[in-house]
Amino acid sequence: MSPRARSIERRRLRRKRAAQDELAGTDAVPIGRPEEPGIGLLPAAEEPPAEAPGAQLEDQVGAAPAARAAVTAEPVAVGAGCPKHMVFGPCGGVQPDGSCEIGGACAFVGDGAAAAPAVEAPAPVSLRPAAEQVRLLMQRRQIIVADLPSAGPDVELERRLASALAGSVDAALLGDSPWARLQLPPSLRASLVAVEGLRPWPGLNCRDRNRVALEAELVALAATGVGAVHCVTGDHPLAGHAARGTQAPEAVFDLDSTQLASLAAARGLVVSVAESPSAPPVRDRPARAAAKARAGASIVYVNHAGNHDELVDFIARTRERSPDLRIVVCVPMVLSDGGARRLAEFLPGASLPASLLAPLDAPNPAAAAIAAAVDRASSCLAIDGVDGVDLSAPPAAGEELVVADALATVGRELDGGRA
Ligand code: SF4
Repeated sequence: MSPRARSIERRRLRRKRAAQDELAGTDAVPIGRPEEPGIGLLPAAEEPPAEAPGAQLEDQVGAAPAARAAVTAEPVAVGAGCPKHMVFGPCGGVQPDGSCEIGGACAFVGDGAAAAPAVEAPAPVSLRPAAEQVRLLMQRRQIIVADLPSAGPDVELERRLASALAGSVDAALLGDSPWARLQLPPSLRASLVAVEGLRPWPGLNCRDRNRVALEAELVALAATGVGAVHCVTGDHPLAGHAARGTQAPEAVFDLDSTQLASLAAARGLVVSVAESPSAPPVRDRPARAAAKARAGASIVYVNHAGNHDELVDFIARTRERSPDLRIVVCVPMVLSDGGARRLAEFLPGASLPASLLAPLDAPNPAAAAIAAAVDRASSCLAIDGVDGVDLSAPPAAGEELVVADALATVGRELDGGRA
């Protein structure tokens, strides 16, 4: 190892230790430390008393939120015909021609389509300690987040991936099983990641859980010391499984992302949501971000937009509508042909920009991809109104650790993970 590499590694380990100390100071209930054999649901001492099931956990995370959440889950006529039962649509899966992600016309796009109702702002709720940390961090500086390369239901790999990123980025976004792929539950993933000294930012989708299951997961996330949660509606299972020739599981979609954002905010969590600037109706996307902000979201992750001008325009218009909404821009990175295929699956209907694929033709594709990602992230961070970037490189099967190392390198170059 060269002296520079040694110095970088020492700095990374210092940051990792500092993050472990910081996370240990929150209200975390870590699950399954590395030195413990096996994974339990909660340490025995934390289990709720038998005579009052759930009471202890409820005390830990505050009052039940149902009365506080202002966006109701009552089904209304809007969005009738939406296969995801969305009330506050349209989702980001609208295709470039205005059709639905699983075919047919989108219920929210085109002449005579339903308009989403107005969102009633919920009553303000105090942030939990870990959430307050996230808020203060974002007040202080731009943040560097990385998508934890999805590992499937593999506890040990999840830990190794988190360890590889710890100290190099400020948080790991834990995408909630896109395409209904089997993955560890968000609260378990969050605990595993936090133990490695990496701030977890779990995603939660409405595809696989009804309202009760979503609320249960929010309780679990809050109890395990999570500060921020990423609320998405989720892809319709037919969108991914049809293409793979596998059988799609039953979809739930009891709530949509706007309704889930309201529930999560009522739990005292920092809430992020996603918006796709290039999905039709493009002009209405900032208004949709504003509706989610009104429901309780304080951060919007801006999904990949192939065109830089489109991105700048979306950010400016979103800022105009929602000056307090913080903006984190997703920065894609492609390390291999398999990674390019995976990324293309995230962007149905959109083509990957040539600049993103150029590193694959370079003599050293990994080094070129890292340099390109640093470059693109830096230009995104320079856009007025941007509060951070989310580094994203969906890995091909078996490439998870290589991708995590590359993400960590980009994170360090951007000075992520510092106090
Ligand atoms: S594209 Fe999304 S919002 Fe539109 S109908 Fe399909 S699932 Fe519903």
